[in-house]
Amino acid sequence: FQERLRQAERLNMIGEMAASIAHEVRNPLTVVKGFLQLLSSSNDEKTRLYMTTSIAELDRAEFIISDYLNMAKNQPEERHPLDVCELVETAVQTMTPFAVMQSIELRHLCERDHYVQGDTVKFKQVIINVVKNAIEAMPGGGIIEVQSFRQEDEVIVKVLDNGEGMTQEQLGRLGSPYFSAKEKGTGLGTMVVFRIVESMGGKITYRSEKGKGTQVVMQFPAAGEG
Ligand code: ADP
Ligand code: MG
Repeated sequence: FQERLRQAERLNMIGEMAASIAHEVRNPLTVVKGFLQLLSSSNDEKTRLYMTTSIAELDRAEFIISDYLNMAKNQPEERHPLDVCELVETAVQTMTPFAVMQSIELRHLCERDHYVQGDTVKFKQVIINVVKNAIEAMPGGGIIEVQSFRQEDEVIVKVLDNGEGMTQEQLGRLGSPYFSAKEKGTGLGTMVVFRIVESMGGKITYRSEKGKGTQVVMQFPAAGEG
């Protein structure tokens, strides 16, 4: 019995480690991929081939990480005051290479010094997932505006795009696992977003019109600086 308990503890620990490593590794992978994509427009044919091969392998690594993250349900969760402006800015920076690739200008307007309670990595993941969807909804380029500000006892984060938008049916299925309208989508991004926002005591609302664009509004209870 003792032996089995130890084994269960070990498995649990491995699961938690896998989840936190996956979280940490995913953002740098995204950045590296973005820059490789910028380089892949090289004039040299061999360079282009090496770049596209590297990008494909990074994509594969990202999918494997997604699967692991999804499997490991017991992710370690921290709760401390998060500087919203700063963290949203980091997430926006992370996604900027992707935006540039698609002729998108990613703007971030924020007011300093407002805080929410949560986990740094998870909060950034929320912003990254939402902004990624906005970018992917604007294949023809344009402007995405991210706003973060305080409104009474809430901190609001908005992500506004004027991309392809969603139908009522798509809006209704948003957040259910594996729902994706994309050829290479996993349909897990929004589900993770909903789960994290809820765990932070927040609320998320999508307003969208097919062909016009999408507005994502997230409301979190404001916290003190701690
Ligand atoms: P994935 O991005 O892998 O498809 P998500 O869970 O992130 O999975 O998103 C699910 C679906 O929701 C997308 O395939 C897309 O159809 C829709 N969606 C989410 N955000 C937007 C947006 N800003 N504009 C248009 N469609 C969106
Ligand atoms: Mg997505």
